[in-house]
Amino acid sequence: MMGKSHLVISTGVTLSVLGIIDEKITLPVIAVTAVSALLPDIDEPNSLLVSRALPTRFIQFLKLALVGLGGFLYFFGQAFAPWNIILAVLVGVVSLMPTRSLRNIVMILIGAGLILFGNTFIPWNYIIGSLLVICALLPHRGLTHTLYGVLGWTALLYFSTSGYSNTLWIAGGLSYLLHLLADSLTNRGIRPIPPLDWRLKFNLMSTGTRKGSFVEGGFVLLTFFLVYIVFLRHIAI
Ligand SMILES: [Zn+2]
Repeated sequence: MMGKSHLVISTGVTLSVLGIIDEKITLPVIAVTAVSALLPDIDEPNSLLVSRALPTRFIQFLKLALVGLGGFLYFFGQAFAPWNIILAVLVGVVSLMPTRSLRNIVMILIGAGLILFGNTFIPWNYIIGSLLVICALLPHRGLTHTLYGVLGWTALLYFSTSGYSNTLWIAGGLSYLLHLLADSLTNRGIRPIPPLDWRLKFNLMSTGTRKGSFVEGGFVLLTFFLVYIVFLRHIAI
């Protein structure tokens, strides 16, 4: 399923459920819900979340900046020879790395920095920091679309935020779970408990086909309808 459909369906249904059970919907709750809706696809090369958080252009700019830094070190560090050459070569090697690997390194550095020094943003520094590190080190594709992914993310939210309120981890966990359920509607389905080969697959739609995008659009419309019934009708009256 497309990232945008996930964003609408997971976020819309989660917020509707919260509305029905009368939980308070704050801006942080909406933010966690939206991120959790996109999180499972983070291991895909064109993930909506990663490409917005660290755009490819940013990484390309970083590469250029590194080449500049390498040149600077070489020419202006001649008093420290041969260290200027060694450093310049090191920086040059980093700038030659594939965009994807460089992005992972930047993610780990920012994540570790947030966890260690982001104490002003508690508990967000733990959530965002761990998330960046986990995403960069994710061992293999598909692990996010499992029960372990749901439990891991929910546990991370629970331990970092349950001291403040219970809405955040409930919203995040539910939104993540809904993403997996939406993916299980497709012909590819998901493998929720590897190493078991069992696939959860309802085969309602084939991704990439016209009928598939039609069904996908149908679920998006249904979500808007649900949100309308739960929230907007009250405002109108
Ligand atoms: Zn997915």
